[in-house]
Amino acid sequence: MFELNKITRSNIEKLKAYSSARDEFTGASGVFLDANENPYGQLNRYPDPYQKALKDEINKYIDIDPNNLFIGNGSDEVIDLLFRIFCKPSIDKALTFAPTYGMYDVSAGINDIELIKVPLNDEFDIDFNSVEGFLSDPQLKLILLCSPNNPTGNCPSFRTVERIIENFEGIVLIDEAYINFSTKKSFADLIDKYPNLVVSQTMSKAWGLAAARIGMAFGNSSIIDLLNKVKPPYNISDLNQNAAIESLKKQDEFLANKAQILQNKADLNKELNNLDCITKVYPSDTNFFLVKCLDAETIYSALKNKQIIVRNRNNVVKNCIRITVGTADENQLLIEELKSI
Ligand code: PMP
Repeated sequence: MFELNKITRSNIEKLKAYSSARDEFTGASGVFLDANENPYGQLNRYPDPYQKALKDEINKYIDIDPNNLFIGNGSDEVIDLLFRIFCKPSIDKALTFAPTYGMYDVSAGINDIELIKVPLNDEFDIDFNSVEGFLSDPQLKLILLCSPNNPTGNCPSFRTVERIIENFEGIVLIDEAYINFSTKKSFADLIDKYPNLVVSQTMSKAWGLAAARIGMAFGNSSIIDLLNKVKPPYNISDLNQNAAIESLKKQDEFLANKAQILQNKADLNKELNNLDCITKVYPSDTNFFLVKCLDAETIYSALKNKQIIVRNRNNVVKNCIRITVGTADENQLLIEELKSI
């Protein structure tokens, strides 16, 4: 059975969170002589450490209790915090499925944690048998799973992921950075059912706010409390909290942009499938395509010489590049260059 205090690092359990003077008084107006701020200027006050106004706005859009919601400096911060809360450096392990998002490896490395990489099968899905043997390892504390997956673009089978969550006594992070582009179900609805489940999403992709660094984690309130305890006190600037609130209020713009990207994606898919230098366009639940080429290195370099930058994934999936869906004009330029190669 999952018990949070069994897997939380003891130093984190004992840790007393930094308490800012502003934690004790949450009113918006007052004479603030508590935080050694400059009394003059526009950006002179520290931001709300718990981002209450932003959480209220998110709640309107995704109906999530603020107690089950953590805001990170991008979802990359969520990944790093989970390592720091649950994995003892040089002792514990984490597990992911390859190929996947490169930051899992980097965060594991920074935190001195061995990252087990279980290969996805030929359809880029998870075979439960390939992971089952690892689930009872007492040193395995964290499973990182990306759905839809970067760079393959697909979602692993829902039921297989549930079996992993059900059969593991550590934390499972499901990274849903691309979920807004997908027709598949989010795992966010299952946080009440599974106390060891954390789901992360981001405003960097479909919301178009990559520069503002707004990531979200959904989970049991005890896990959210731990994330809040370990994060830097003012991890989201006022500018970024406000940018996110303004974007969330513009639902129409969000939906229109998303619809345009999905239309561009469908057009790009057709064009890519007609090219001789591309042998396969993998199905995608995201705003990018993984494509297999006759020769990925040549195509990548030829495009780069024309200032068209795609992601060379040849060292991850043989002869593959990853192409983000751009504007209709950008996609057309790409296709014209690919035709000339
Ligand atoms: N997860 C995945 C799968 C990603 O591809 C990315 C960014 N490329 C992130 C998380 C990080 O997103 P953020 O901007 O929210 O830190």
